[in-house]
Amino acid sequence: MSRTVWVWTEIAGDAPHKLSLELLTLAQKLGSAEAVVLHPASDAALASIGEHGASVIHHGSDARYAEYLTEPQVATLAALIAAGAPDLILFSSTQDSRDVLARLVARLGVGVVANATDVTYDGDSIQITTPYGAETTGTVTLSSGPHLVQIRPKSFAAEATGGTAEIRPVTTAIDERTLRVKVLEQVEQASDGPNLDDASIIVSGGRGLGQPENYQLIIDLAQRLGGAPGATRAIVDAGWVPYSHQVGQTGKTVKPTVYVACGISGAIQHIAGMKGSKYIVAINSDPDAPIFDLADLGVVGNVLTIVPKLNERLAQG
Ligand code: FAD
Repeated sequence: MSRTVWVWTEIAGDAPHKLSLELLTLAQKLGSAEAVVLHPASDAALASIGEHGASVIHHGSDARYAEYLTEPQVATLAALIAAGAPDLILFSSTQDSRDVLARLVARLGVGVVANATDVTYDGDSIQITTPYGAETTGTVTLSSGPHLVQIRPKSFAAEATGGTAEIRPVTTAIDERTLRVKVLEQVEQASDGPNLDDASIIVSGGRGLGQPENYQLIIDLAQRLGGAPGATRAIVDAGWVPYSHQVGQTGKTVKPTVYVACGISGAIQHIAGMKGSKYIVAINSDPDAPIFDLADLGVVGNVLTIVPKLNERLAQG
């Protein structure tokens, strides 16, 4: 049976958002992959979406889609779904995506599965895989359609397959009443190195650092290794570092080559976000800390002694 799978595709800067491109890989596996782009995206951005597997792009080019948050997107999406009847619509985990998805679900009065890692079909029945904590996964099905599913980052690799998409202009007029919340400014967070999503090395700190000032040791080590600094929710909640650094179930999902966990116990909610790392190094003073069950290399010791020594050594070149 041929299925139509839409991907609500975001534009970041002048390119498709990489999490949207990951979803196109899944969409192609399930049926005919089509992108919905409500943004005055450039020809190059649209071409890239085609190269990543969309056979059709439903393109709403009105500049106001980029200026206003959520409501015009939701209204147009609901109209497109009513007219186009896709079987499944995939959303990524960005804040904008969650925002649009939540309103769309309420508007359509259908169910949604969030935080999924895979979608398959068993005959006509949709099977959605969702993790519960680090070790348990469940399979969920949805009865009435259209099926709306939000996928975890890095569940699929974005793949340029070299195709070309047919562009279908979206003719739905924007309802002026939806133009209520406007984006006034976008500020990029300054960073001296790669961000958590892209870094091949991540050094993360936890409550074992003792006090906020000691997080500088983690930043220094990450920079010296050419990586990015991460954190546990414990120290994010304590206000030591911003939420953008949080790794875990309610933070970022990362898959670096090397993940160095410093003063981190290894709670399942933290592990949920970093267990896909290729090599895990843990430094913890408690030999029974759960993080050692996962670590490829475990160092039992004081993070406040070991990390400064590592930094010193790396500074020597
Ligand atoms: P702790 O658990 O307090 O561990 C500190 C570790 O440091 C200990 O193992 C200790 O032995 C070690 N230590 C102490 N001193 C030193 C020293 N000098 N040198 C070396 N080691 C030392 N957490 C996340 O991280 N990410 C999430 O996304 C997340 N989401 C959550 C969602 C929910 C719904 C809930 C309920 C919790 C969530 N948590 C999350 C919180 C999680 O359960 C843990 O509380 C948190 O991960 C613990 O952080 P931690 O390892 O820094 O602190």
